[in-house]
Amino acid sequence: MKALMFHGPRNVSVDTVDDPILKDARDAIIRVTSTAICGSDLHIYNGSLPTTPMVLGHEFMGIVEEVGKGISNLKRGDRVVVPFPVACGTCFFCNHELPGHCENSNPKHYGPEGGLLTQKGGALFGYTDLYGGYDGGQAEFVRVPYADYGPRKVPDFLSDEQVLFLTDIFPTGYSGIDWAEVRGGEFVAIFGAGPVGIMAAKSAWLRGAARVLIIDTQQYRLDKAKETTRCEILRWESHDQVVQVIRDMSEGRGADVCVDCVGFEPDRDLLDRVKAVVNLEKGSPKIIETCMSAVRRGGVVSVLGVYATTNDNFPVGQFFDKGIKLVGGQAPAHRHIDKLLDHIIKGEVVLDDIISHRLPLSQAAHGYDIFRHKKDNCLKVVLKPGE
Ligand code: NAD
Ligand code: ZN
Ligand code: ZN
Repeated sequence: MKALMFHGPRNVSVDTVDDPILKDARDAIIRVTSTAICGSDLHIYNGSLPTTPMVLGHEFMGIVEEVGKGISNLKRGDRVVVPFPVACGTCFFCNHELPGHCENSNPKHYGPEGGLLTQKGGALFGYTDLYGGYDGGQAEFVRVPYADYGPRKVPDFLSDEQVLFLTDIFPTGYSGIDWAEVRGGEFVAIFGAGPVGIMAAKSAWLRGAARVLIIDTQQYRLDKAKETTRCEILRWESHDQVVQVIRDMSEGRGADVCVDCVGFEPDRDLLDRVKAVVNLEKGSPKIIETCMSAVRRGGVVSVLGVYATTNDNFPVGQFFDKGIKLVGGQAPAHRHIDKLLDHIIKGEVVLDDIISHRLPLSQAAHGYDIFRHKKDNCLKVVLKPGE
């Protein structure tokens, strides 16, 4: 089959590889009909998360081709979306609605602490050896483990593009709002007008927010955010400017909720490291720090953006003094996917308006290039393996 292979930093290509086969009674093989490129894929693409060559892609849907002997909920021909964490559905963490930390799906022990403190847990499709080493879905076919737990059937009257983002970015954006326990009336500041930031904004409205502000460095993304969700927009100039505007909007208090939909940026992180070595000084603030300054006392900072490095600038003094609630991590997509599908069916939310590019799988490398470098007003790339 054809699949998008990661070979090394900035080096991806569509290659011919072996078709996936059933390896376990709970496996299914899916013929992928639509798959998307995510900001999270860029961390691998940029070389920030090291891995051996593998098929990338954790946002995919398609038609069930084959199921293992243990699968009775799916049959050949069913059309499904697949949540991005590989999760068993039976371990301690799956039972606590934390599928992103599943203990059984990642047999390799790992942990950022290293040494004796390593822990097992947490696997994603197409997302490095650290996260289980599973091949992903930017391919014609993909093996889906635990297929009785993850995949959800979708009704025929909804197109692929209407439901594809149930795999990751919609439940992820929703998690940022859900973690913050948004109940109605809140002022939500969202950092990043990328696909995740826009999904967080759409989710904030579903949960009754009173006011949504989206901040980004890129004007075209802010313009796109305004087209695709209700929001006020703010062009990032500096940490101080953004914090001041947010306080001015809230009688000096700060936002009730700040959602970090940026994470670490490779270019800025590199700059920080150089600055730190050359001048022995603190590098430029990370978005998480701006969130901590812009949130009100007792407010919530939800961290959806990925941080793959240790953040030694973390403002622990603010955390304590302001009594901030801090929450983040891989989103528990399984927890939210069914109710979010209901919102789509009822027409309460539209997701496909963020798609800027539709490409055949054969042009996936070009898709990575334009998404990474924000060329051609790229916001979200959907790849079509069948075309
Ligand atoms: P993206 O790269 O398209 O979006 C990031 C946005 O942040 C861009 O629009 C960029 O211009 C903006 N940005 C950069 N610097 C900024 C600044 N100083 N202020 C404001 N905005 C700034 O990626 P995405 O697909 O939207 O994903 C966003 C983040 O969420 C990534 O880190 C991704 O890895 C992560 N993510 C996490 C989960 C999860 O489960 N927690 C799931 C999906 C994605
Ligand atoms: Zn993703
Ligand atoms: Zn599990």
